[in-house]
Amino acid sequence: MACNPRTVIIGAGLAGAAVAHFLDGPALVLEQGSQAGAEASAQNAGMVRLLVEDPVERRLALRGEARLRELGEEGSRVTGAVHGLVHDPGELDDAVAALRAAGHEVQSVDRAADVAPVLAGAALRRAWYVPGARVADPHALIQRLLAGAELRRGVQVRSLIVESGRLVGLQTSQGPLHAERVVLAAGAWAGALAATAGLHRPLFPVRRSLLLTTPHPLARPEHPWCWLEDLGLYLRPEAGRWLLSGCDERVEAAPQGPGSRGELDPDWRDQVGERLLATLPAIEEVGWSGGWTGLRTFAPDRRPLLGPDPELPGLFWAAGLGGFGLTAHLAVGEAVAAWLGGAPPAWLRSEEVDPGRTMPRRWVIRPLGTHHGSRLVSG
Ligand SMILES: Cc1cc2nc3c(=O)[nH]c(=O)nc-3n(C[C@H](O)[C@H](O)[C@H](O)COP(=O)(O)OP(=O)(O)OC[C@H]3O[C@@H](n4cnc5c(N)ncnc54)[C@H](O)[C@@H]3O)c2cc1C
Repeated sequence: MACNPRTVIIGAGLAGAAVAHFLDGPALVLEQGSQAGAEASAQNAGMVRLLVEDPVERRLALRGEARLRELGEEGSRVTGAVHGLVHDPGELDDAVAALRAAGHEVQSVDRAADVAPVLAGAALRRAWYVPGARVADPHALIQRLLAGAELRRGVQVRSLIVESGRLVGLQTSQGPLHAERVVLAAGAWAGALAATAGLHRPLFPVRRSLLLTTPHPLARPEHPWCWLEDLGLYLRPEAGRWLLSGCDERVEAAPQGPGSRGELDPDWRDQVGERLLATLPAIEEVGWSGGWTGLRTFAPDRRPLLGPDPELPGLFWAAGLGGFGLTAHLAVGEAVAAWLGGAPPAWLRSEEVDPGRTMPRRWVIRPLGTHHGSRLVSG
């Protein structure tokens, strides 16, 4: 086997790039695709979301956003965000309290349209405005984060090589590669790769659709992004149009190789259109101009798999970033680099993100984007 740098990272998405950035030492990043960041990291909605309910996700989000601010305006910018509630005005109270306690400004707004004109006429029972909320540019971020790393594109890792109970290398499409430490940052493919070493680490990719409207005068770059939480609908301006999602979820296996981006289902687009019409009169006249679907990858408890694998020395995880990987990737990179450096991160409890933790055997998905219509799946 050829001798290579000590840490090999599988995957050049946001997770792998962020680990490479924070590593104290050289990193070799292997990417199966012809370019970095072309899978989930290129398919997201660009929103840096801080108002979240799960405490572990929130810790990662807050840390990730703080690191994003340190990078300056290069990879993200402030637009503000409005989180609206149509049914249950109390649904975000805990998340708001936690965000305020962390020092972020959150305002209760009576007339949401004053800060977000697209919400004019929307029947909201409560609206929260986060003036410091950001949108981020994953492409720019990944380019910057990978600047100091060696990136090999078009190299697919086929299996992990284990000797005497320890990870010693990788079988790749270009032959075997020696590696003392490997970071699994392979997004939707991570669970299958772990299985090549006999590890059962449940991760399930879930497809979600993003729709683009025709040009609309309110879709100006400085308009806050908006999330109608209990309706399962979010939108933000994108090049003079609205980029929006009905928050659909459909469990689906990852493809054999690169290429997880999918086509829109016209029936779903029409359903989202009906919801839009019924909710946001300010944009009822828009038409559709495109869109795509992408894979978000979750563990059954919807928390990421981070740090050393308890059963396979030499393997580290940076996977299961679900729907918050753009928000949290810098925190993920910082945490995993700390584990690799031998000093676990003081701000994250290892057991909460332990790759070998006990997982529920069945978990909830929301095909329609809300609790209504939720169902249990297993696998
Ligand atoms: C529709 C949608 C909307 C989203 N919106 C948001 C949002 O608004 N805010 C937010 O914070 N997050 C959002 N996300 C989530 C975010 O995009 C993801 O959490 C994040 O991109 C995951 O990054 P990753 O690096 O783990 O995975 P990926 O970007 O998928 O990267 C994994 C990489 O590993 C490579 N790889 C896999 N297997 C191998 C192999 N065997 N050999 C070599 N390379 C391999 C892949 O080719 C890929 O490049 C959204 C996601 C989707 C799909």
